[in-house]
Amino acid sequence: MTTPIPFADAARSFFESYWGSLFEGRDEAMVTLILLFVSHEVIYFGRCVPYWIADQIPALQKYKIQQKAIQNTAKNQWKVFRKVIISHFLFELPMIMGFHPIAVKFGMEISALPLPTLSKIIPQVFLFFVFEDFFHYWAHRALHYGSLYKHIHKVHHEWSAPFGLAAEYAHPLEILILGMGTIGGPLIWCFFTQDLHLVTILIWIALRLFQAVEAHSGYDFPWSTHNWLPFWSGAEHHDYHHMAFTNNFATSFRWWDHIFGTNKKYIAYKERKAKEHQAQKAKKVM
Ligand SMILES: [Zn+2]
Ligand SMILES: [Zn+2]
Repeated sequence: MTTPIPFADAARSFFESYWGSLFEGRDEAMVTLILLFVSHEVIYFGRCVPYWIADQIPALQKYKIQQKAIQNTAKNQWKVFRKVIISHFLFELPMIMGFHPIAVKFGMEISALPLPTLSKIIPQVFLFFVFEDFFHYWAHRALHYGSLYKHIHKVHHEWSAPFGLAAEYAHPLEILILGMGTIGGPLIWCFFTQDLHLVTILIWIALRLFQAVEAHSGYDFPWSTHNWLPFWSGAEHHDYHHMAFTNNFATSFRWWDHIFGTNKKYIAYKERKAKEHQAQKAKKVM
């Protein structure tokens, strides 16, 4: 049994009455579809806005990881925005349509009340992050082999200096394969425990979108997540993958690339950059 957090209880009862009213007298599958699709659009594009604003502020350009390769032009962003939104409607929407029947089969609670407590949601979401990261690491490495790269993953690598919107700029098969990492963990968890609520899925997907857009943002701000959470990958980690087309295959955490030795070129690159920086500083002092 989980211990409810008293502070969260008042908020939870507010959300419970709201959650109940969303489903009351409506088709559960349709409400689920709308919730998943609309929240995906709002969070994905909404998360890109701060980075787009940063693009317009010259003082923030010193935080861009790749100073020489400028691909976040208005023309490129418009091209990516159009392609991503088409892909959302043509491919992601049908995939989301398949979610409700599968989730119900696996025993997920959809409209049911009470809603889970934060002390239940937080460890579950952490587990999904760990599962997704491990799955993504190996699936992404596989996507870098031969024809899988040439026919599928090459699309995502069109951008060697990515920007937020490019996070979901990918071949439909890549969206399907890597999407299995996002939804596979919750489904396996649900199958074995019969203890998972749609609300937890919505929170998990929102955080996963935050992670994906941040990783592609091309900015390493002092407040970026990995600067206060050292094992978090962030843009500083994934940007190298786009620049070098190798190393740093994981999504959220740095540990698998470290354990399996797929961060060696990245570490060598960082050391080289640090030495160059030191040399430049010394030159200025002289
Ligand atoms: Zn890749
Ligand atoms: Zn990427």
